[in-house]
Amino acid sequence: MSDKKNNQKNPYDMAIVNGTVIDVVQEKFVKKNIGITNGKIEKLTTEKISGKEVIDAQGLLISPGFIDFHSHVDGNSYSAACLVKQGGTTTLGGERELSSKSISRVEDGFVINQGFSISQSFVLRRAVGITNPKRPANSEEISAMVDLARRFMEYGAFAICFGLELVPGTSFDEILALSKVAKEYERPIMVHLRKDGKEALQYFEEIIQVAELTGVSVQILQLMYMVGIGGAMPMALEIIEKARAKGLDIMADSGVYAAYSACIGTGIFEKGWEKEYGDTSTEDLLISSGIHVGEYCNDELFETLRSEFPETLVTAFVCDPEAISMALKKDYVYVSTNAADGPHYPGIGAPEVAGTYPRLLGKYVREEKVISLMEAIKKITILPAKRFGIRETGHIEEGMNADIVIFDENTIIDRADFIGIGRPDTPPEGIKAVIVNGKKAVENGYLTENICAGRFIKR
Ligand SMILES: [Zn+2]
Repeated sequence: MSDKKNNQKNPYDMAIVNGTVIDVVQEKFVKKNIGITNGKIEKLTTEKISGKEVIDAQGLLISPGFIDFHSHVDGNSYSAACLVKQGGTTTLGGERELSSKSISRVEDGFVINQGFSISQSFVLRRAVGITNPKRPANSEEISAMVDLARRFMEYGAFAICFGLELVPGTSFDEILALSKVAKEYERPIMVHLRKDGKEALQYFEEIIQVAELTGVSVQILQLMYMVGIGGAMPMALEIIEKARAKGLDIMADSGVYAAYSACIGTGIFEKGWEKEYGDTSTEDLLISSGIHVGEYCNDELFETLRSEFPETLVTAFVCDPEAISMALKKDYVYVSTNAADGPHYPGIGAPEVAGTYPRLLGKYVREEKVISLMEAIKKITILPAKRFGIRETGHIEEGMNADIVIFDENTIIDRADFIGIGRPDTPPEGIKAVIVNGKKAVENGYLTENICAGRFIKR
């Protein structure tokens, strides 16, 4: 044997043997053994290898770790623990707020690799003193935000993120000025548009204009929650395709759940909401907290809860389930979780944080055959790695970070569900192990002692 690590005297830190590696670069499935040392993939070989720790992956697939380029995990360990159990090994956050406190916590070691995007809506606006989300920034404030955005870019931000629905005061000039900064550093902007449903359609235009004027790459976030409602998805995809045909770099992503959770008292359920969501009614709302948990709503209960218990969590089954497949079929639509938007506590929240990838691979690939396994894996590994400039992970190759998911394509499935039906943090089935930076972080659905193998990543 040529490699001295092939003998028992000098084994790798870890050897993954007998499995099938998903080569997302060559788009092939190859029988190879993987030798890992110091957190890196040191050897990829058909020869026999040994390791201080050996994982037998007989009959299983070995994928690069999944990259969640849009989540709200933001340094929260509980959410990250849910994410790693479903195969997520890297996440980008910061749309709402990734405070310096949570950054330093991540720098001390974190469950997964965590990078950040610059939040226009919260961090930048607040930093220049804008507390009213409806107030447009003046020109001095915009240039102060531009300076700050440059500093974040220098520090290693992966993108600039706009949550326009939450800061309606944002002007076109503000989006334009910050997008120029993103372009300067060749990083994308990520955008939640100003409205949802059919109303969202008119707001693509300003973002397309920004792309035309600046040449910036655009990631339209979470199509399903935005336009998977009221029949708007096909129209949204058409708008994106027209823009792409003009040579603009506009892409999108989607989740794989057709419902979302919100408090019954929020603006979402203001008078007339049923119309905005197409053919829906109060009976499409599953009560997810309080004494009525597990019951579907009705008009009377809706009024009572909304006026007297506005904090009651409801799960709104108002999205078009077929819109998920429509979006997944497009090569310019990737998958992100948008996970844990809300309280980061056990059993609270929505299932994206624990089930997105197994649902993609189990329901949409295996059961419904919407896209191929290779296409699905690429959408959650190498493609986002390239798009966001995450260089050390995203495919299995010698020299890359050992971020790896070992799973059974015949059984992988999500088990998390909305409160009232199940638990949003139930781990999936079919994942044998998840490896973060060469350390086995998850084994058969359980966290191991290696819960701090992740690190803070910068571009
Ligand atoms: Zn989001």
